[in-house]
Amino acid sequence: MRSMIRIKFVLTSLAALLACSTLVFGADCQVKVTGSDAMQYDVKKIEISKDCDKFTIELVHGGQLPAAAMGHNVVIVETAKMMGIATTMIKMENGIDNGFLPESSDILFQSKMVGGGESTTLEIDPTKLTSGTAYTFFCSFPGHWAIMKGDLTVL
Ligand code: ZN
Repeated sequence: MRSMIRIKFVLTSLAALLACSTLVFGADCQVKVTGSDAMQYDVKKIEISKDCDKFTIELVHGGQLPAAAMGHNVVIVETAKMMGIATTMIKMENGIDNGFLPESSDILFQSKMVGGGESTTLEIDPTKLTSGTAYTFFCSFPGHWAIMKGDLTVL
């Protein structure tokens, strides 16, 4: 009986420790970005710590319009290449399932496209990004990139 209580205590302590470490180390390795029916992100700047094993962007579509009308995703590219990608690669015929983008090594990370009330997560491996390089995150739904974009850097 006594050993059972002890095991329970150890497990409870372990759970508390895990919850605590998630709070301390996890906070900086994730960000929540909300997109709206007004074609806006609520976050304009993302900083990723090199200390993060992985970095998670949670994209929430806080609006009500369906993906076909007001879809939002998060695509990460080098800022220097962003304009070229946005003006030449985003095409309706690439399809919404591909974020209207073709296969390209210039597209470093890309989330699913979501509609109102939906959300998705994008996991980023920080080792695939370089400190000191300017990156841009943007929505690749046709016409959205001019407004729906922000800066992403690795510190
Ligand atoms: Zn969008």
